Amino acid sequence: MEKQMLEQQDVFGFGDRRTIQADLDRVLMMAFGRALDVSGLMPMAVMNVMANAFGTLYRQVAEQHQNQPCPCGWRPTSAQDIELLKSALEAAAKWEPADKLLTMPALGRA
Ligand SMILES: [Zn+2]
Repeated sequence: MEKQMLEQQDVFGFGDRRTIQADLDRVLMMAFGRALDVSGLMPMAVMNVMANAFGTLYRQVAEQHQNQPCPCGWRPTSAQDIELLKSALEAAAKWEPADKLLTMPALGRA
């Protein structure tokens, strides 16, 4: 009973967020693959187009929220919002090059 209530309260919580993330990851990967095949562009060129599309999506949704009140209550603050989006992109995209990993000192050597 208690567990069921907690699950119902989690509709917009972490569990649902993970599902949405997985869905969007899959959809974006499919769109990327299709754009790559169809366009013959290099991967970074396709990602640049996708980043433009994402920026356009933000601008359109933000404009909607500025022009008329929305039940969700969001008030866009473009400079702050864009900084947040840039940070999220950077955190998700960062990776350690293989050569850097190889020069890391080995731990727990016998
Ligand atoms: Zn809204």
